Amino acid sequence: MKKHTTGIHHITAIVGHPQENVDFYAGVLGLRIVKKTVNFDDPETYHLYFGNEGGEPGTIITFFPWPAAYKGRVGDGQVGVTTYAVPVGAMNFWKKRLAKFDISYTENTRFGEIYLQFDDPHGLQLEIVEREGGTKNRWTFGDITADVAIKGFGGAVLYSSNPEETVKTLVEVMGLETVGHEGELIRLQATASIGNIIDVKMMPGNRGTMGVGTVHHIAWRAIDDEDHKAWQRYAMDKGQHVTDIKNRNYFNAIYFREAGDILFEIATDPPGFAHDETPETMGSHLKLPIQYEEYRDRLEMSLVPIKVRELD
Ligand code: ZN
Repeated sequence: MKKHTTGIHHITAIVGHPQENVDFYAGVLGLRIVKKTVNFDDPETYHLYFGNEGGEPGTIITFFPWPAAYKGRVGDGQVGVTTYAVPVGAMNFWKKRLAKFDISYTENTRFGEIYLQFDDPHGLQLEIVEREGGTKNRWTFGDITADVAIKGFGGAVLYSSNPEETVKTLVEVMGLETVGHEGELIRLQATASIGNIIDVKMMPGNRGTMGVGTVHHIAWRAIDDEDHKAWQRYAMDKGQHVTDIKNRNYFNAIYFREAGDILFEIATDPPGFAHDETPETMGSHLKLPIQYEEYRDRLEMSLVPIKVRELD
């Protein structure tokens, strides 16, 4: 039976100083830090998760902040642009807010929608678009009310080394539907109301290099553990080199690199970020996976202190 993902689960990127990361995604964009943990493969480094009030799939951006790492180059084999969706009518608010923080932006139109495009402090390419889909984000910060707050991902623009193959994988493996073609872009859609619009740039450019300011991978949604196991078999049957299932505490994950060199993950919606904290306290304490709990004192000493703060 043909499978389809409902959309983006999360996007993970490499950035620089963790406080600059928190200041931008919480302080400027007004997202909630829904989990403060460490990189499970490198516990001396944070793994920070930002999303909507509930930390729901389709809203989650995650970061490995490496203050001393080399800068990467955004290019083919990566998610090139991460798109955020805001309620219809919120664009003027965001223009003013970006200007207030001296963040330069440009406005561009594609597929009949206006996109506000800007970079984060470490060079990640972001954009904001008004969309009807998704539920309002009740996490308020500063003067960002639910009427203007980022609801989650609108989607992403993929820069592929082999765009035809990437589109084929999105359609034939991930189950997205091709819905448009404009200039050098093909637009695909998944079934969720958020994190569901993927544009693929069909003209390859420069090869990207991994480092600060680049996306590491994009994760797609699986309904539950049973669906996840089915995805693993399904993607293997479709010729993808899929990893074992890895326990990421807040979801299970499998990975494969598609033919356009972009690292794909498939992640389960459950258990989510209230797994080891309450919905009210999510993101307020450093949470460690069980194997690192005995090193907590040392890790808390070595990790740079970070805090969510008002910047104005
Ligand atoms: Zn991931």
